[in-house]
Amino acid sequence: MISSKTSFIALIGNPVSHSLSPIMQNAALQYLGLDLIYIAIPCKDEDLELVLNSLKKINCKGLNITIPHKEKVFNLCSEISPIAGKLKAINTLKLNSKKEWSATNTDVEGFIYPLKTLNLTKKDSIILGSGGAARSVIQGLINLNFSTISVISRNKSSLDELIKNFGCQIEIQGLLNNDNRAQNLIEDADLIVNTTPVGMKTTKNEEITLPFGENFWRSLNSKSIIYDLIYNPAPTSLLKFSAEKGCMTIDGLQMLVAQGLKSLSFWTDGLEVPFHIMNDALKNYLKNK
Ligand code: NAP
Repeated sequence: MISSKTSFIALIGNPVSHSLSPIMQNAALQYLGLDLIYIAIPCKDEDLELVLNSLKKINCKGLNITIPHKEKVFNLCSEISPIAGKLKAINTLKLNSKKEWSATNTDVEGFIYPLKTLNLTKKDSIILGSGGAARSVIQGLINLNFSTISVISRNKSSLDELIKNFGCQIEIQGLLNNDNRAQNLIEDADLIVNTTPVGMKTTKNEEITLPFGENFWRSLNSKSIIYDLIYNPAPTSLLKFSAEKGCMTIDGLQMLVAQGLKSLSFWTDGLEVPFHIMNDALKNYLKNK
């Protein structure tokens, strides 16, 4: 029950109305029996500093940060974890003992979660897209001891930036999506991760396509695992297409839940919630939508 003593955790972004975090975090907070609720607060760029400074003064116990503020919050935080510093992106904040924001990023742990039980050491991977999520995916693949990473993207400048940032840690190459070498890479890849938003459910009645078009996928075979970061719709067109080819498929819901569990643990100094509590809440919500 919400009372006059109830505190809150908030998601700060713009837009936030589509976010599933309130559904899964409130299920977890209820499971823990904490007098805490989770809400979503839309916040424009120009208001970010004022909003974050104001939230320090009231009964706010922590924050999630989403698009477009993941990089902009850096100079509003007094402590930054090594992983957030390395990724140049923050997704979780809590107040430290001096009532200043302490920041981390839980996306890498979220991404790794569904892959942990598979033996992927020395395997070859492909990442589609070179935006913010690709950075967490690269770091995750490095942590899992993959042998090579090929990032395929339509954006040369962000590709070059990624290769520059991660090139000293793993054998990584960047290719534009119309590069002929992409077909050989797809044929041989052990894991292909889609980090582009292509295939996401939109309000428009668009025809849903595969990232870079169907022809791009012509050499896919059943040996590759296909991991789509998108969780709505489930399955995406890419995952349906890949399953028909006999591939193992992973959708983005597990990553969403796993990063949420890690954020909750950060806010509550180590409390743990079973994965199924958040996962079931999301599945029920999406089924009835
Ligand atoms: P982002 O920073 O905007 O990066 C998106 C990347 O995809 C960029 O390289 C972009 O290229 C490329 N792209 C966009 N539209 C494309 C198109 N039509 N064809 C080919 N490439 C295209 O976004 P992000 O933060 O990385 O997020 C990407 C996706 O991952 C979103 O769908 C997001 O919901 C999902 N995600 C899921 C989770 C989870 O927990 N499951 C977590 C994080 C992200 P340009 O630079 O040329 O636009």
